[in-house]
Amino acid sequence: MKKLKADLHIHSCLSPCSDWAMSPRKIVQQSMDVGLDLIAICDHNSAENAGAAMREGARHGLQVLPGMEICSREEVHILALFDRLDLALEMQAYVYANLPGENNTKVFGFQVVANEKDEVIGENPRLLIGATRLGLHDIVKKTHMLGGINISCHVDRPAYGIINQLGFIPEDLNLDGLEVSYHIQLAEAAQTIPGIGNFSCVTASDAHYLNDIGKACTVFQITEPTLDEIRLALARKNGRRILV
Ligand SMILES: [Zn+2]
Ligand SMILES: [Zn+2]
Repeated sequence: MKKLKADLHIHSCLSPCSDWAMSPRKIVQQSMDVGLDLIAICDHNSAENAGAAMREGARHGLQVLPGMEICSREEVHILALFDRLDLALEMQAYVYANLPGENNTKVFGFQVVANEKDEVIGENPRLLIGATRLGLHDIVKKTHMLGGINISCHVDRPAYGIINQLGFIPEDLNLDGLEVSYHIQLAEAAQTIPGIGNFSCVTASDAHYLNDIGKACTVFQITEPTLDEIRLALARKNGRRILV
């Protein structure tokens, strides 16, 4: 077993609210500089920059998982994490088919698709910051069908957090875990946030700027930095667990 540091919620320049400097290449560089072993690229309702970050990570020995932060019909943010790009892109196709609207760059900002050489490939025209027509149960079902895991985002926050939006966490939702924001220490989460009960909790930076990467991260006791190992740690199985 190893102690591995993971930041599982990082936005790239594809998210309209994110800094332009958040290119796949710079995210990987910064993640290595701050000593992370594993990261996940989770842009709003899209995984179009995940491939570039994965290729750049592979070149430098940093494990990068493809993911996205999906906004449900209930206006709850939920992470969907995968271990293969093709599976993340299949999820993306499902999300795109249920994501109405077009981006307004003047109001929300640019949505830049970039490659691992820091070159701009294009701009995503969809309303990525918007809510999908997908209910939370649909999102979890599809993610699990594709072998991914779901973590409900920033559950301690009023905006787009499941507890504030729904008032509770549905028992039949089959979430793999919860994320608490950097505002709360992970060790104090269970005492501070009502209703999180026996859920496994992680923390992550939700970085929109390079300097925020790793600002909050989770230390896992696992054998290698893979999605399967994270899944075991969240389920507290085979000696895998969350340390801090
Ligand atoms: Zn969010
Ligand atoms: Zn986020």
